Amino acid sequence: MPDPTCIFCKIVAGEIPAIRVHEDDRTIAFMDINPANPGHVLVVPRGHAPDLYAMPADDLAACALTAQRVARAVRRAVTPEGVNLVQANGPGAAQSVMHFHVHVLPRFQGDDLKLNWGLTPGDLEAISEMAEKIRDAMAASDAT
Ligand code: AMP
Ligand code: ZN
Repeated sequence: MPDPTCIFCKIVAGEIPAIRVHEDDRTIAFMDINPANPGHVLVVPRGHAPDLYAMPADDLAACALTAQRVARAVRRAVTPEGVNLVQANGPGAAQSVMHFHVHVLPRFQGDDLKLNWGLTPGDLEAISEMAEKIRDAMAASDAT
């Protein structure tokens, strides 16, 4: 059931815009508008669940597979030196949106990224260019 107050449910429903890079029956992936690094993507289930504790098994598995596909595409498109998957639960973990999501975070040596990296708005044009490259990489290879 969508939560009418939830910003990610609104993105899933297409009620507010997002720069999407992937969608399937259970999940969507879109660019984070406050990227911690260029190419920062969020993977979310279409169904609303506030956090890991509440996630139905099928949606959790689907998010894991989508995160793997997105990470592979980010590796090809952004050529980072590494990728972190980060998933926050609760205020102490700096969860700011109460709809389960996995951060796919490109990493670069010396970027000094901390777990609670803070929200700094990104340049929409640069984010859209990154999204285009990631979409191309997803289309080029689903498996590797
Ligand atoms: P967290 O702090 O782990 O809950 O992560 C929530 C993430 O959602 C943050 O990195 C925000 O930048 C991101 N975010 C919030 N609203 C939007 C939006 N409308 N479009 C894209 N990303 C968003
Ligand atoms: Zn939601």
